[in-house]
Amino acid sequence: MTMQPSPEVQSPQSILLDNVVSGYYGKKVLDGVSFSIDKPSVYVVLGPNGAGKTTLFRTLAGILKPISGRAEINGLPSETQEARKNLDYLSHIDGIPDGMKVIDALRFYGKIESVGEDDVARAINLLALEELQLKYFSQLSQGQKKRVPVARIFLRKKQIYLLDEPTSNLDPKVAKEIRELILGLAKDRIVLYSSHNLYEAREIGNEVIAISQGKLAMFGEIDDIKTQKYVVGIKAFDAEGVLDSNNKEGPYYIMELGGPDDVPKMVSELVAKGVKIREVKEMQNPLEELFK
Ligand code: ADP
Repeated sequence: MTMQPSPEVQSPQSILLDNVVSGYYGKKVLDGVSFSIDKPSVYVVLGPNGAGKTTLFRTLAGILKPISGRAEINGLPSETQEARKNLDYLSHIDGIPDGMKVIDALRFYGKIESVGEDDVARAINLLALEELQLKYFSQLSQGQKKRVPVARIFLRKKQIYLLDEPTSNLDPKVAKEIRELILGLAKDRIVLYSSHNLYEAREIGNEVIAISQGKLAMFGEIDDIKTQKYVVGIKAFDAEGVLDSNNKEGPYYIMELGGPDDVPKMVSELVAKGVKIREVKEMQNPLEELFK
């Protein structure tokens, strides 16, 4: 599908990696990664912890210079200032100093981005930070803390966004709201959004860049990742005769479902049969299968 660029987009956006080797102090993390993107969309950068997702983002953001190979943003080497100008990188460890108030931090970022009070107020409103804006960062809960750097990326529109696990550690409701905001932002932009959870990834986008041990494991459609098996463990009482006690791992009864969407139905059926459920957890992540 071809998308029309919005009037704010001055030039076509693109990312190019050509046989990129990148890492820290000569230690290779990314090892010969090549792909190119010129179609605006959300690309989910998927991979288990330690795969090299953050290293990929740092290389694209110009923080790490490739040891060898080419990394380009809009046709410019990623470490040049010109390349960085149209790119926003949200690191998974972004925050603001504990002794700073939310409003002061956003005004500070607003100055860097050369935007006015209106844009700062809009970002505060988008992330529902009105009641928190006069609080110090140290006074916020973990979930509230995450919303502040996310608000920063809404101050000024960029062409390319690199978002490193922007919804990790958030409760599902807030995570969903933030994903929706990001999807709105992503219209006619290139957004790379990293995640180590395939099911979260499905909520975000259909294009996948899968990284495994520093190599490109897959570049394509998320639907091509097979998820035949979704296995949950259920900790429960009064389950005799309902759940199979021969199929247990520790205190967990093992059950195979079609996917996470089947969990509520399974829970209500078990409850209707008098089972007292204490916990339901994912026992296997299909990503592990993909990256075996
Ligand atoms: P991911 O984001 O997929 O979890 P990372 O890119 O953070 O993976 O890490 C990939 C590898 O690079 C890991 O083995 C990690 O230990 C290593 N690494 C990450 N940051 C540094 C650093 N600053 N110095 C040295 N090694 C690092």
